[in-house]
Amino acid sequence: MRERKSDSYVIEPERKIPVIHEADVCVVGGSATGVFAAVRAARLGAKVVIVECQNSFGGVATNGLVSLWHSFYDVEGKKQIIAGLSEEVLSRLSEIDYRTGPGSSHFFNPNELKIELDAVLKEAGVKIYLHTFYTGLTLDGDRITSIFVENKDGRGAIKAKFFIDATGDGDLCRDLGIESYVNDNIQPPSAVYMMQGTKDDERKREFGIKFNEDIVPPMIQRHGKEFGLEPDWGWDTYIPGIHNIHFRADTHVFGFNLAHADDLTEAEIIGREKMRKVIRMMRKYGNPDETYALVNICSYIGIRDTYHYKTKYRADHMELLLGKRYDDVILNGTYDVDVHQADSGIQFMRLNGECTTEYTDGTRVVTNWRKDMGLPTEGPMPTYYSLPFRVLVQEKIENVIAAGRMINADQEAFGALRVMINLNQIGEASGVAAYLAIDQNKSVRELDGVEVAKLLARGGSANIC
Ligand SMILES: Cc1cc2nc3c(=O)[nH]c(=O)nc-3n(C[C@H](O)[C@H](O)[C@H](O)COP(=O)(O)OP(=O)(O)OC[C@H]3O[C@@H](n4cnc5c(N)ncnc54)[C@H](O)[C@@H]3O)c2cc1C
Repeated sequence: MRERKSDSYVIEPERKIPVIHEADVCVVGGSATGVFAAVRAARLGAKVVIVECQNSFGGVATNGLVSLWHSFYDVEGKKQIIAGLSEEVLSRLSEIDYRTGPGSSHFFNPNELKIELDAVLKEAGVKIYLHTFYTGLTLDGDRITSIFVENKDGRGAIKAKFFIDATGDGDLCRDLGIESYVNDNIQPPSAVYMMQGTKDDERKREFGIKFNEDIVPPMIQRHGKEFGLEPDWGWDTYIPGIHNIHFRADTHVFGFNLAHADDLTEAEIIGREKMRKVIRMMRKYGNPDETYALVNICSYIGIRDTYHYKTKYRADHMELLLGKRYDDVILNGTYDVDVHQADSGIQFMRLNGECTTEYTDGTRVVTNWRKDMGLPTEGPMPTYYSLPFRVLVQEKIENVIAAGRMINADQEAFGALRVMINLNQIGEASGVAAYLAIDQNKSVRELDGVEVAKLLARGGSANIC
């Protein structure tokens, strides 16, 4: 169970907290998951407020510098399976590039996305609080009545009829005592940075790697020890419209659970130190004609995995990989089961049966999970997976949904669902469900999932095939 324990306590004196805002729906956490929840509820007519502790929206996609969302199409690239706000917002960006292949993705400039997320919220009439931390809540029976926030004005309360916990770690769920768990292998965080210096063709030839492959991981294998870098299977990608600067993610920080303050602090410092070591290594062993520099550091470390909270349905990787369909579909996706092992490497399981494991020493093992399970390896196979609404339905509190990486999922299913194109859809579904709960005066567990799916589809999400 996620909670803070101590042997020593102080009693907080009772005090009056001013109500700073009242709304129908209050969204806490403003990655695209939270923003899309807020916008969908507001477009349906709800009065919505959103609270974000950073200075901008977008979460890992912007402040974490991971500026890519995966494909809107099935694995064959023939059928569009995702639309909604992900498609709408990307179409508003001026610097966007789509690359096909395994893990087909839209690449964008994270700074542009920040500005566009501000704009969609404003246009939808959502009340915005930036630099504002959620710190606690009040309950009346099984209903949340208000949340407490802290910002430059001090402590304030926000009242609402329905709450969406989009904090990633599930901070409201923690305070509500909703049953939580961590997976055996908590996927490690990575501190992402932007590095200047990509003209390393000579070095690539020397290392025998292709032009479009990344030079830094083999460099870390060969020279990392000298700089105190442990083997890593990091990756990089370019940013459209920007030259000679890539974002890099070869800074996994192992052995921490970043939903806890001390772990978070320690991991931030280790992550930044790793970035500096990579730059120093590149200056010594990279292309001598290149000027390697640390251009930008994520404003907080990228967190993949902490706590998960129990709901009516736990996402199951075999149901995903076998393409099970649901009437109350709220999400379609194709991203592989992608599990960053705590210490050994990264494993991908694909819908077509391929299973690839890449180890930190650079070796790669390819097997077929369908063959291993005695399933046919030829003939028709699912080209995308889906998820039902009940994955969002917890049964303890009437008026809250947790939307984001705290999703109830087995370890492998989480490896697929955790990507942004998937969580964006979960955000939209939460916003629609919040609106319906208020409109029909129902608790979240009384909602009809098929009705949620139908209203969601009218906004272009999930059920568009
Ligand atoms: C290094 C890395 C690489 C990745 N690569 C990819 C990739 O290539 N493609 C992809 O699609 N996905 C990728 N992922 C996964 C994906 O980015 C995350 O799973 C996803 O962003 C999680 O979204 P979320 O909304 O649940 O949480 P977050 O993005 O963590 O958002 C939570 C938001 O809530 C705010 N918040 C938290 N607590 C509070 C509070 N108490 N009060 C107010 N606000 C609060 C945070 O500031 C943040 O804005 C990657 C993740 C990492 C870490």
